[in-house]
Amino acid sequence: MSRIPEQILEDIQQRLDIVEIVSSYIPLKRAGRNFKACCPFHHEKTGSFIVSPDKQIFHCFGCGVGGDVFSFLMKYERMEFPEAVKMLADKAGIDFVQEKTKDSSQVDSVSKVLYEVNELAALYFQHILVKDSQAGIARKYLSGRGLTPESIKRFRLGFAGAQWDGLVLFLRKKGISDALLVRSGVALKSSQGKVYDRFRNRVMFPIFNHRGKIIGFGGRILESTDTGGPKYVNSPETEIYKKSKTLYGFNFSKEFVSKQNYCVVVEGYLDFIIPFQAGMKNLVASSGTAFTIDHIRLIKRYTSNLVIVFDADDAGREAALRSLDPLIEEGMNVRIVNLEPGFDPDSWVRAKGAEGFSRSIDAAKNLFDFKLGLLLDRFKRDVPEEKAQIAHEMLSTIKKVSNAVIRASYIKKLSETINVPEEALLAELQKVKVSVAYERKRDDSYNQGVTNVSSAAEKMLLSLMFENEKFISQGKESISCDEFKDPTIKKITKYLYEAKEATAPVTILSKVNDPEVKSFISSLLVADLGINDQQKSFDDCVRKIKKDAVKMQITMIQKDINRAAQDDGDTEKLHGLYKRFHLLKKELKIYEEGN
Ligand SMILES: [Zn+2]
Repeated sequence: MSRIPEQILEDIQQRLDIVEIVSSYIPLKRAGRNFKACCPFHHEKTGSFIVSPDKQIFHCFGCGVGGDVFSFLMKYERMEFPEAVKMLADKAGIDFVQEKTKDSSQVDSVSKVLYEVNELAALYFQHILVKDSQAGIARKYLSGRGLTPESIKRFRLGFAGAQWDGLVLFLRKKGISDALLVRSGVALKSSQGKVYDRFRNRVMFPIFNHRGKIIGFGGRILESTDTGGPKYVNSPETEIYKKSKTLYGFNFSKEFVSKQNYCVVVEGYLDFIIPFQAGMKNLVASSGTAFTIDHIRLIKRYTSNLVIVFDADDAGREAALRSLDPLIEEGMNVRIVNLEPGFDPDSWVRAKGAEGFSRSIDAAKNLFDFKLGLLLDRFKRDVPEEKAQIAHEMLSTIKKVSNAVIRASYIKKLSETINVPEEALLAELQKVKVSVAYERKRDDSYNQGVTNVSSAAEKMLLSLMFENEKFISQGKESISCDEFKDPTIKKITKYLYEAKEATAPVTILSKVNDPEVKSFISSLLVADLGINDQQKSFDDCVRKIKKDAVKMQITMIQKDINRAAQDDGDTEKLHGLYKRFHLLKKELKIYEEGN
């Protein structure tokens, strides 16, 4: 249960429209009374994601996730509940100061401390870089790489000195425990239990999340102090730093990405900073990790157009190209820039200026042409076997394109280039298996549980109570919570019965924490009942549920009777059971005749 005043939640829900909030993240199409989209939480080609403006909820019939506007934000932005409330309250223009209570969730407070530790560490490294005499070589290195003082400040670059415990001592003085130092990744623990700095003799690049908070560091060794360590040392993954979700620099660049409607993907920190400083600001650095669905979703909120700067050598090219498959599957429009051998964006901008870089970007080829170019270099298109090889490689890419028009035009182009009839390519395309390299995990946890055991009548009854409050008071009179078989429905009904005032279904959602229950409620809420005579359905459902409950009791009594008869003796008990048995039979008859 939340510790945020209910009034606040209700105010927020009243002022905001879930349709507006959701459509600021994903495009919604009107479908009758509701809105539809492809679900952002599982991979699909046809939309099973419904947003209901009447009920102010969303639900996906594909993966089962659902809930109110708060749940949507929590899931989409990966926020904790209070964070989502805060963001929506701001949007709604509602002021509230969150009370700090002891029962705030553990995860919440750990993340908070980890952010603090990283922030303090960044301040420490920044201070060393600017003030410490041993950082002279680092300052020289950075200015030699063309970094302006403004960039050093903006990207909060720092330096970790040679000392083994400089940062550790600093953070201990700030009251950070050794356990947290290690947990945050800025320190390590030796086998003797000694805690020491992870980064030494390195230029420090803080890694930001897309909201601009520091979540980790990349430390680059300086040639002059090189003692044989790796070129880069990075923070390990922690509660707040996940590589699969982090894109370096996006907090600085997202508004420019949105404005220019494309995003240039580079690799390293300096590949980001140098062009950014030169005025090419719609960038993001992948830090060498392959694109994950989380990365793609993050970028997709701002643009669907990507330009990848490719610096793989010949050997690494095809693997690198294959790592772009998820982008195609997600419908991103991908173009590729191939810089001259030996250059990366950093050195390219220093050599050719921002205009030179931007010219190369204008000349970027789309992924299809780029890949075809590579294959034509490698295989001879007049040798049948090699021609087949080219076709096979290209078709595996084409297969992943979901847009039929784009697909058709690629087929046509491939057909012309290697001189093979389109029909033959289409036949081959059928045979291409979609690789499993990028199979999304479905959230199966949402698909199990509640719905299996609940009878249709129980669900229907609950839907009716959500639809019209008069059925809640009728329900209170005619059927008790215990008569419901499904534990979830029992719980929700109990809540409805006990609520002091009539509660809007959507408010119930904000009180539920269990995602399964949330999903269950939202599925009931979006389902179009399509009933004309609701009163009759209500009566039918009540009768059916009661009938089932009685039937179950009868079965149980029959078992008791058998047992008591075997024990032979307790005639009084047996007599009582029979009496009860006949009463139940009579009751059952009433329900059955009512049908
Ligand atoms: Zn879904």
